[in-house]
Amino acid sequence: MGCIFCKIIKEKLPYSRVYEDEDFLAFMDIKPINKGHVLIVPKKHFELVSEMDKTDMSKMIVVAEKINSAIRKSEIRCKGINFFLADGKAAGQEVPHVHLHVIPRFLGDGFGFKFPDNYENKPPRKELERLAEKIKRKLD
Ligand code: 5GP
Ligand code: ZN
Repeated sequence: MGCIFCKIIKEKLPYSRVYEDEDFLAFMDIKPINKGHVLIVPKKHFELVSEMDKTDMSKMIVVAEKINSAIRKSEIRCKGINFFLADGKAAGQEVPHVHLHVIPRFLGDGFGFKFPDNYENKPPRKELERLAEKIKRKLD
């Protein structure tokens, strides 16, 4: 089977290139949420963001900003942009090769996040503090 994005990177599958440098390739999503939906992938195969080195992580957001600006300047319908990255299957990652979505947005485009039923209930400050502590303890 193999990784579909690795196949694209190796030119074994057709794709529509938007941008390329030594480390990244950006191409049109085959099933766009809106017209102009672009995917940015590192050329090396990493499944999760944590496997990438820090320099590449930074470069990826710089590439995303280039594409963001280009879409906004283009004729593509776009009043805003979502950057979206699913890091892991449970987060909605379908292709196990890191990819950052750049999605043009406009009001009424029908795309959005589905929030859980209890979303409107703000947790008590104590709980937020406790969770912040749990994360802070694990920061490098
Ligand atoms: P995920 O759900 O993993 O965040 O996103 C995977 C994305 O890859 C989807 O938006 C899907 O449309 C796109 N995709 C899957 N297979 C291909 C392909 O063969 N070519 C391109 N260009 N995009 C693909
Ligand atoms: Zn891959």
